[in-house]
Amino acid sequence: MKGSVSLGKIAGIRIKVHWTFLLIFVWVVFVEMRQGGNLSSILFNAAFILVLFACVVLHELGHALMARRFGVVTRKITLLPIGGVASLQKIPEEPYQEFLVALAGPLVNVVIALLLLFFVPIGNFTGLSQVEQLETLRELSLQNFLLYLFLANTILVVFNLIPAFPMDGGRVLRAVLAMYTDRVKATSIAATIGQVIAFIFLFLGLTMNIFLIFIALFVFVGAYGENKMVQHEALLKGHKVQEAMLTDIHFLEPEDSMEKVVSLILSGTEKDFVVRSEDKPIGVLSHERILEHAREPGSKVRDHMETHIKTLNHLAPLQDVLRLVESGKTHFYPVTDKEGRLLGAIDLANLNEFIVLQSHLDF
Ligand code: ZN
Repeated sequence: MKGSVSLGKIAGIRIKVHWTFLLIFVWVVFVEMRQGGNLSSILFNAAFILVLFACVVLHELGHALMARRFGVVTRKITLLPIGGVASLQKIPEEPYQEFLVALAGPLVNVVIALLLLFFVPIGNFTGLSQVEQLETLRELSLQNFLLYLFLANTILVVFNLIPAFPMDGGRVLRAVLAMYTDRVKATSIAATIGQVIAFIFLFLGLTMNIFLIFIALFVFVGAYGENKMVQHEALLKGHKVQEAMLTDIHFLEPEDSMEKVVSLILSGTEKDFVVRSEDKPIGVLSHERILEHAREPGSKVRDHMETHIKTLNHLAPLQDVLRLVESGKTHFYPVTDKEGRLLGAIDLANLNEFIVLQSHLDF
């Protein structure tokens, strides 16, 4: 996510905080000022939020370290005003692994809450009358700080376990469903339930708490995206790059002029080109580069091509291409055989076409 600052690493995982996180402190100051707070009440609440978000980091580390047990790397943990996000390289496909990874986060908050119980005399508190309770809660004491922290961790556990995929509870639900049916169906059911709950969040958010609106959005978009991703991966499973690659395309030579490239673009539908030397790919000339240099007809392809390119083997799984494209680096790859000879190319457009064709063939 753009606009994040690194806070350092824990257990080899980078911890980042998004700038919007600062808005919470602005909000704290605003609320305190409006309720007649003073400097110490502002500091009390700001410190509380810092410690609470430390608990959120521990929650995310719970997910990350459990995932590590199953060989899944976590690139980073990002803190946002609505909570933390652990960027796992992938979600484990084994249902029991996903079950444990999803549960590990809330479990951390259960442990924190239980530990806090040693320091918070809940018994003394519940024995008070309601007026006395409110009076006690207003004190800026360490006792109250820990009591609030206990309550917040309890809320985190309950909230995260709401089965709104892709929240933790929804992942647990998907994992359990996947034990009884296939992963695609399980995801689709969990995503539908998640989106229904997102609507309830949205409604409650409009009437009660604005944070719920953001969470509704996160759940709605997340459920949609991940459901599509799982469907697509399933359609691509077992298929190889060569089944979807473009072969009826023009290859460029490094000495070709840009004039020739521009006329190729105008006379056909190709946008990106592989540059070859003998029968090996040596570069890619992307559509953006071509547009940039279209007014230099005399210049050569080799002046503008990218030479740091990734090529794909024709027998590689098609799912790899989807992951590469999703990771957002580039969307066009030369395809070669085992000896590195150029066979064709593959891009997002024809990967999508393959997905569409597959989904029609299935019915
Ligand atoms: Zn979580």
